Amino acid sequence: MKSLGYAAHDKRSPLLPFRFERRDPGPNDVVVEIAYCGICHSDIHQVRDEWGNSIYPMVPGHEIVGHVSKVGSAVKKFREGDRAAVGVMVNSCRACENCKAGVEPYCTKGMVGTYNARDYDGTLLFGGYANNIVVDEHYAFTLSPKLDMAAAAPLLCAGITTYSPLRHWKVGPATRVGIVGLGGLGHMGLKFAHSLGAHVIQFTTSASKTEDAKKLGADEVVVTKDPPAISKHTGSLDFVLDCVSAPHDINAYLGLLRLDGTLCSVGLPEQPLAVSPFAVLTNRRSLSGSMIGGMAETQHMLDYCAEHGIVSDVELTSIDKLPEAYDRVIKGDVEYRFVIDMATLPKI
Ligand code: NAP
Ligand code: ZN
Ligand code: ZN
Repeated sequence: MKSLGYAAHDKRSPLLPFRFERRDPGPNDVVVEIAYCGICHSDIHQVRDEWGNSIYPMVPGHEIVGHVSKVGSAVKKFREGDRAAVGVMVNSCRACENCKAGVEPYCTKGMVGTYNARDYDGTLLFGGYANNIVVDEHYAFTLSPKLDMAAAAPLLCAGITTYSPLRHWKVGPATRVGIVGLGGLGHMGLKFAHSLGAHVIQFTTSASKTEDAKKLGADEVVVTKDPPAISKHTGSLDFVLDCVSAPHDINAYLGLLRLDGTLCSVGLPEQPLAVSPFAVLTNRRSLSGSMIGGMAETQHMLDYCAEHGIVSDVELTSIDKLPEAYDRVIKGDVEYRFVIDMATLPKI
């Protein structure tokens, strides 16, 4: 099937218009005409080869929403014209214990990413900065008409990546939670933790985000360029969700945890973080990580958002403004997620 998108061809040059082929839809596939695609910091890490695993040409994008234009003969969940969404993964073995348990990101055969990845048959996969995508319906989600489409796009990565660990570590009314970094992921983590009833402390390096953090649901805001303000909270939190994209002192945030508390890092800086054994030994703390969420859980999260009126705070941009958008994400100068309006894709 013919597709048109924007691709990176190496780690330095700007993305350019790119024609490419996707597989023709099979019996279990749907074709989604993409209306909007979010810009995740992972797109930037991979376009710039900051994780050292980039495959070019690369069409990034894994926060995808649109409408179904074609359904395979065995498709059950969708009809032509339905809204649909696609996230960070598009295949897994579906037979291993983790797939069967509904935690497909941890597939023992290796989950298949939406882009910068090869499918099990070796096909190079392209993401959502494009006019369409072909995907097995198991990896596509239904989207309630209650959700604004552009503002729902970031739920497919930023949303599920923060919702899943908050649920796994049972965040609720009795818990005190810290969210570190108020970016795309962080602002969703803050909204979800607040919605789940926790007492939420937002940690940010940006004093200018203080008022926004309160509006988004923070009970307290700590500007982390002020170390005494952090230490005031030492040993007082049950759970910390670290959503920071760059190297930082994780020990300062581990120190916030009370007995048996957990810090879950969802941020993926390009350099390793140095962990002091003293920071985890004190209070028998745990350091963990979490990757997106399972397919059923992602659908559950989207339904939860529709029920509770939760979407991302987005700034719409056009596909020709990617360089500017990337620079602004890196500066933390977006409130709080860029979403590409795919109607701006040139019809070359
Ligand atoms: P983002 O929108 O750029 O947000 C990152 C935030 O981190 C910034 O807004 C800033 O918040 C804070 N920050 C940036 N540089 C910092 C520094 N040097 N020291 C301290 N704080 C800093 O990025 P995102 O899209 O939310 O993604 C965040 C990270 O999660 C990325 O590394 C991304 O690759 C990763 N990720 C992981 C998964 C997963 O499955 N685990 C999924 C998606 C993304 P303040 O201004 O508030 O300080
Ligand atoms: Zn992402
Ligand atoms: Zn599997």
